[in-house]
Amino acid sequence: MSAESATTERPTYVLARAEVRAVSRVSPNFVRVTFGGPELAEFATPGNVFDARIKLIFPPASGILPPLDRDTTDWWGSYLAVPEEERGSMRTYSVRDLRVTPEGTEVDVDFVLHLAPGLTGPASRWASAASVGQELFVIGPRRGVMGHGGAEYRPGDAPSVVLAGDETAAPAIARILEDAPRDLRGIAFIEVPEPADVLPIDAPAGVEVRWLPRAADELHGYELIPAVLAHLGDADATDAITVTDIESENLLWETPAYSGLGEDLADKDAPTDCYYWIAGESGVVTTLRRHLVKDLGVDRSQVAFMGYWRRGVAMRG
Ligand SMILES: Cc1cc2nc3c(=O)[nH]c(=O)nc-3n(C[C@H](O)[C@H](O)[C@H](O)COP(=O)(O)OP(=O)(O)OC[C@H]3O[C@@H](n4cnc5c(N)ncnc54)[C@H](O)[C@@H]3O)c2cc1C
Repeated sequence: MSAESATTERPTYVLARAEVRAVSRVSPNFVRVTFGGPELAEFATPGNVFDARIKLIFPPASGILPPLDRDTTDWWGSYLAVPEEERGSMRTYSVRDLRVTPEGTEVDVDFVLHLAPGLTGPASRWASAASVGQELFVIGPRRGVMGHGGAEYRPGDAPSVVLAGDETAAPAIARILEDAPRDLRGIAFIEVPEPADVLPIDAPAGVEVRWLPRAADELHGYELIPAVLAHLGDADATDAITVTDIESENLLWETPAYSGLGEDLADKDAPTDCYYWIAGESGVVTTLRRHLVKDLGVDRSQVAFMGYWRRGVAMRG
């Protein structure tokens, strides 16, 4: 999501103060939080939600949310203008479910609980203690104003897909599969911390959902990388689990429509049999990208590679 200014009269994004309506510990490592409230009334994706991303602003230690102007066309600038100690923390999440009814709009977000000392952050901590009535800010697409609604999943006419991600991408993959046409074919690989984190997904019958629980103390990617590469016929798949160490703090973000590395963009209309969507820990996604693009010759017009988080690095919004 960029902080571009709106070109229409209304801001492109809704910046809404939202209230926790329900909290459900859906598995050992996921908590589902339902947000609602009158300021969410204009929040909605233009069509299917797919992997639409939203920003959440969590309160600082004082518990008091920053005084943000809801009518701003520059939510990023307005957030940064608040003194750091009062600003709280901004993080990116996916919409697991969106319900727009005459009674109001509700948004479900599935938070991964990563709470080990030194490996946790404000979003995960907040989610672990969330309770009904608490408030935060939600920044997301405004109904009828934002073209793609913050979604990256754009398979075009591809009849089949390969989706792959770790637990942070599980909510987006679930939403994509539940919104996808029922005749979609393909496979989804979802790596999760443990077997009890396997959650129900109403996927099209032709899409296999393969859950990949990690063994205790196994690093992210150690199940996902070989499984994806073996599926794609990479003979060296078992040697591929050395996660690329990238020096930069930047997250990998290489999609047919945007290149964080500044590479030439793909021909958007190029026909493709299979569309690939890969998200999760940035080093893991980078490793998969290297194999897909360099070894397997997958064209960049067929793939979205998205670093959702970076091991050892706190996000900044
Ligand atoms: C488009 C997009 C959609 C996303 N959707 C979701 C979603 O639906 N659900 C979800 O839970 N996350 C999602 N994420 C990932 C989430 O934004 C990051 O995990 C974020 O770092 C969490 O913020 P934090 O404050 O808890 O930790 P931070 O303060 O950002 O990081 C603190 C420490 O925690 C580590 N860390 C961060 N995330 C994890 C993790 N999952 N497991 C282990 N260690 C971790 C970091 O490496 C760092 O060392 C999404 C990210 C993007 C870009």
